[in-house]
Amino acid sequence: SGGVLKEPPMHIVHISVEMAPIPKVGGLGDVVTSLSRAIQDLNHTVDIILPNYDCLNLSNVKDFEFRKSYSWGGTEIKVWFGKVEGLSVYFLEPQNGLFSTGCIYGGKNDGERFGFFSHSALEFLLQSGSHPDIIHCHDWSSAPVAWLFKDHYVHYGLSQARVVFTIHNLEFGAPLIGKAMTYSDKATTVSHTYSKEVSGNPAIASHLYKFHGILNGIDPDMWDPYNDKFIPVLYTSENVVEGKRAAKQALQQRLGIKTADLPLLGIITRLTHQKGIHLIKHAIGRTLDRNGQVVLLGSAPDPRIQNDFVNLANQLHSSYGDRARLCLTYDEPLSHLIYAGADFILVPSIFEPCGLTQLTAMRYGSIPVVRKTGGLYDTVFDVDNDKERAEAQGLEPNGFSFDGADAGGVDYALNRAISAWYDGRDWFNSLCKRVMEQDWSWNRPALDYLELYHSARK
Ligand code: ADP
Repeated sequence: SGGVLKEPPMHIVHISVEMAPIPKVGGLGDVVTSLSRAIQDLNHTVDIILPNYDCLNLSNVKDFEFRKSYSWGGTEIKVWFGKVEGLSVYFLEPQNGLFSTGCIYGGKNDGERFGFFSHSALEFLLQSGSHPDIIHCHDWSSAPVAWLFKDHYVHYGLSQARVVFTIHNLEFGAPLIGKAMTYSDKATTVSHTYSKEVSGNPAIASHLYKFHGILNGIDPDMWDPYNDKFIPVLYTSENVVEGKRAAKQALQQRLGIKTADLPLLGIITRLTHQKGIHLIKHAIGRTLDRNGQVVLLGSAPDPRIQNDFVNLANQLHSSYGDRARLCLTYDEPLSHLIYAGADFILVPSIFEPCGLTQLTAMRYGSIPVVRKTGGLYDTVFDVDNDKERAEAQGLEPNGFSFDGADAGGVDYALNRAISAWYDGRDWFNSLCKRVMEQDWSWNRPALDYLELYHSARK
């Protein structure tokens, strides 16, 4: 795909309701920021349009300033501009209070809020005389952009634009997603295997000719163990053992578990059905049985699940206080220390469109232990079973994986991982070094997106 590098620069506008580090709830936010940075680095112009939530922490925005206001939808909409992670971002603030609810999601009228946002973003482009080549919208929340554009704005002066729609998670808002699939010029999802897994879904099935799986990458500057203010010793693959030892100690001290040389399992996740809650619980028990340590960082949008984990935490902290810590919150700095300090990162998802945690784990030299589904299947190659499949990608095996969504499945992968740690530390350390040297950045996927953008314009 080197040919795309010779094409003239394009102007791409993302219309999204999340962008890391603010406002970020999950992988969607990471992807909008890191894909945009990668495309901008290849000399294209990228703008992002976001709602101006009242709960934004503006300390992450440089040169925040008022730009203009316009009337639309029976209200005045103020436009603010600022730089986030080097990207140009327009923040839309309708004066009808739709984004003054103290949250990103969770209002009863999220559909209405984001529908209004999608429409007002197109109106903003039109009223500012912008002529983007690509308008890129994401998931159900900015899906309306696809049909509002084709039904209206394509006739009003945004005619050269093509619409690209990315599905980050089909579970959310399938009806809206189906409509956006119909109206978009190209559609993507975030890994090849997930694109096959969802290809029979009625929202997707009749659109396969324009539907592509492009793997997500991680931003190597935002996740960099050699330049990370949240870890005690900076490291590369050359001093991974030393760097990870220091990080493990710092993590153990910070969380008040025993500072000992034990295998440490890290889990960083939204606690929802998708993420394999019963498998997570089983893995915690199994690791403790094998005299390992467990650190979980996770929060549950569903209060019943949150409660359930609060109870589990109390139980574990009293029986295994020196070896288990469950942090039931969202904490980005702590996540960095866990990625660096853990030996293994567990991702036992029931389904997983791409998954970023396993990629970030590898960037920090932690070994992924994952269920073989979606993007986890495409990025983790079992040291015992996937040598050939890895070779076909020009890679060496990099982790442990399992099929079944049951205790036996988890045990199969986790036992081998823990045994490798106890019985073959030199081999294990060389595996840590190897996974750090694999490239899970946007280097390759950004070229795939460029090619897709170009093909949308033909
Ligand atoms: P999803 O988007 O389904 O939540 P991904 O693996 O694509 O899953 O992305 C999850 C992102 O959110 C990762 O960057 C991960 O580090 C981060 N994350 C998840 N839970 C937490 C948490 N409790 N605290 C900090 N970061 C978290």
